[in-house]
Amino acid sequence: MTPGPVRNPRGDADRLFDLDDFGVVCALDVAVGAVRSFLRQRACRHGRAQPGDRFCAACGAALVAPELP
Ligand SMILES: [Zn+2]
Repeated sequence: MTPGPVRNPRGDADRLFDLDDFGVVCALDVAVGAVRSFLRQRACRHGRAQPGDRFCAACGAALVAPELP
């Protein structure tokens, strides 16, 4: 037996991301994205960065203090 789509009161699970309001699923999506970015930036050696770059092209980490012009 193949499991069917997850149902929620508003429809299928795919519709959780179509909601207009910022629900718990969207909050978790943002949190997971932030953790993944943090881990990716922590593991990156910024080897593709060139002198003068403000951000690492590989991981997106800021290479200069954000308060500098
Ligand atoms: Zn990097």
